[in-house]
Amino acid sequence: MARPRIVVVGAGFAGVACVRRLERTLKPGEAEILLVTPSSYQLYLPLLPQVASGVLTPQSVAVSLRRSRRHRTRIVPGGAVGVDTRAKVCVIRKITGELVDQPYDHLVLAPGSVTRTFDIPGLAEHGRGMKTLAEAAHLRDHVIAQLDLADAAAPGSAERASRLGFVVVGGGYAGTETAASLERLTMNAVGRYPRLDRREISWHLVDVAPKLMPELGDRLGRAALDVLRRRGIEVSLGTSVAKAGPEDVTLTDGRVLPCRTLIWTAGVAASPLVATLGAETAKSGRLVVTADLRVPGAEGAFALGDAAAVPDLATGGDGTVCPPTAQHAMRQGKVAADNIVATLRGTPLRRYVHKDLGLVVDLGGRDGVSRPLGIDLRGMPAQAVARGYHWAALRTGAAKTRVMTNWLLNAVAGDDFVRTGFQTNKPPTLRDFEHTDQYLTPEEVRARTAADQVDRSGGRDRPQQ
Ligand SMILES: Cc1cc2nc3c(=O)[nH]c(=O)nc-3n(C[C@H](O)[C@H](O)[C@H](O)COP(=O)(O)OP(=O)(O)OC[C@H]3O[C@@H](n4cnc5c(N)ncnc54)[C@H](O)[C@@H]3O)c2cc1C
Repeated sequence: MARPRIVVVGAGFAGVACVRRLERTLKPGEAEILLVTPSSYQLYLPLLPQVASGVLTPQSVAVSLRRSRRHRTRIVPGGAVGVDTRAKVCVIRKITGELVDQPYDHLVLAPGSVTRTFDIPGLAEHGRGMKTLAEAAHLRDHVIAQLDLADAAAPGSAERASRLGFVVVGGGYAGTETAASLERLTMNAVGRYPRLDRREISWHLVDVAPKLMPELGDRLGRAALDVLRRRGIEVSLGTSVAKAGPEDVTLTDGRVLPCRTLIWTAGVAASPLVATLGAETAKSGRLVVTADLRVPGAEGAFALGDAAAVPDLATGGDGTVCPPTAQHAMRQGKVAADNIVATLRGTPLRRYVHKDLGLVVDLGGRDGVSRPLGIDLRGMPAQAVARGYHWAALRTGAAKTRVMTNWLLNAVAGDDFVRTGFQTNKPPTLRDFEHTDQYLTPEEVRARTAADQVDRSGGRDRPQQ
């Protein structure tokens, strides 16, 4: 008899935790496991700002999915572009461009999130994200290129001002860490540019909310604000972007900032894959799921991580959903795996409950603010806790060694300011980096699955459309 097929979509915090747990719990004869992923690594996103600032190399945060011979999951190199939960088929675009209809018995949807944008004129063309390895590497090159070009431009010129003006939107941990680490990079770099004065460089952090990182509490949020302002980063709260142009950004309070680098980290939205199901969604497009992570009305389907609105039972379950963080995604991955095993073995499913462990924020240099288990820390102790936490959470020994070596090297040798130029000709838009235009509509998915009976013994390849 054919084994039941479990298809896991996405090799991030949630997907990898789920697959590892399934491999450990299920005997090979109990089920076949497939992991659909466009890349061959799990990206350790919380360390991405350190890739953008060059403290870490891109490889050190790209944790290989093929480190162990024991893994028996079949990795399908591609991205899911649609799901028909009635036919129980996942449509996959392989990295070659071919479309494949992959039948499943159990589906785990963990495709994470994309940068959330708003209908702001110029944002789609000029905003840059901090969600993928390519975005971080591209941003690093771009920032160094601005210094190179400003150095070559006439002193006092408009070009020089706009090249040295940097705006980060989003005062959550991603935006704050990105602004702090890149500001540090530019200030350290300026010594190598004899024609530039550090006072010409301006960094702005903008957020529509009245506080930075409210999850840290008032005192630590204010401490983070003090660190940023002490470093010369202008923080504008209660403000957003009204429009973005190639050489300036207009804020909602009317200020026009010369700027050719607009970094947009103002929240995340569920992967566009979620919309292809035609199922109920909550805020930010996250898929509505039950507390045991099942998708209502979609037999055999589970969803988790940033892509799902998982009820937060630890906070009382009054409609609150878990925030989109790695600590939740990882733990939800294990619960989804346990619930699939329970379904296969006919035992009861369990609900996801996890009390938030707090937040750690590395502001570069010797600065940080952290709140592990409700304890307020700042400065070096906060940074040590932040780095220690991330280091311990890296999945493989190779990744741990790379990250530690990079930190030591950076502490001893300082930053380097090399522009690699690998992606110079890539359009820098969010859509191009995050592939948000690759998905099918629910109608297109159903048209495919209805057009012919999908062979349930395996995936079927069809020509690209
Ligand atoms: C800069 C930054 C800093 C952060 N810092 C922290 C922090 O300090 N602490 C914390 O807890 N959280 C942090 N987060 C949030 C955390 O990284 C996310 O909440 C977490 O990654 C969510 O896990 P996930 O598995 O749902 O998604 P991800 O980890 O994003 O994984 C999704 C995976 O699915 C893949 N994928 C996407 N679409 C498809 C598709 N269609 N088909 C197949 N695969 C697909 C992606 O390539 C990716 O590998 C940070 C995020 C960012 C961006």
